Amino acid sequence: MAAEALPATKLAYFDDMWAVEGTAVLLAQIQEKTDDGRIALILDSTVFYPQGGGQPADTGFISGPASGFKFVVEDVRLKDGLVCHYGFFESPHSDCAVIPKLGDELNLHVDPQRRDLNSRLHSAGHLLDICMHKLGLSHLEPGKGYHFPDSPFVEYKGLIPQDLVQVKQKELEKEANALILNGGKISASILSYDEASRWCGGVLPSYIAKDSSPRIVKLGDHPGGPCGGTHVKDIANIRSMKITQIRTKKGCTKVSYTIGA
Ligand SMILES: [Zn+2]
Repeated sequence: MAAEALPATKLAYFDDMWAVEGTAVLLAQIQEKTDDGRIALILDSTVFYPQGGGQPADTGFISGPASGFKFVVEDVRLKDGLVCHYGFFESPHSDCAVIPKLGDELNLHVDPQRRDLNSRLHSAGHLLDICMHKLGLSHLEPGKGYHFPDSPFVEYKGLIPQDLVQVKQKELEKEANALILNGGKISASILSYDEASRWCGGVLPSYIAKDSSPRIVKLGDHPGGPCGGTHVKDIANIRSMKITQIRTKKGCTKVSYTIGA
């Protein structure tokens, strides 16, 4: 079946952000016409998180139905509603690798440590938004979020006055760690635009379409804004947070952070 004719992949993490194991039916196996000729598996649903929204892709492996094959997932991308699991078949004898047939039910295994780190970094990004609100900086609209382990940050439209930058950096860090210490359950729900807007204090960011049903994340009692990513179960799981830098440039404020090991 051509990839264009396949149904959109069901995103299991939309219903359960914490599942790292699952089963799914193989719908297509595509070998890209590139030099490395990497293979993409397309399934009817997936627990793997495809890179997006500032969060890196999950890695892990796919196996089954009988023993004999293991497909190592190195990268996951969402393209036109289809989640492509990129990787390679691992076999003790590469010349006679057992490969699955279309329609087989396969077992999915996400690397739990990598998922946990990515979720902690993503939750910390939303906690930062909450702290910005609490410190009277709610006029700064969250824009790009980058929740990769190397140098995570959130960019806000609008400026913190230069003479307040150092003070706000300290206050943000203090507020974030107080909220982490306090803890609180994290959840995500798909809501109507109006309901989502109510949850988020009457305003949603301008990039959310008025005819959409946004997924809204909530951290404790605080609305964490629209989000398509995965999160830890509790604010306390972020462990600790450091605001490493605040830079203002061209009408934007970039807040960089790290989280505790
Ligand atoms: Zn998010």
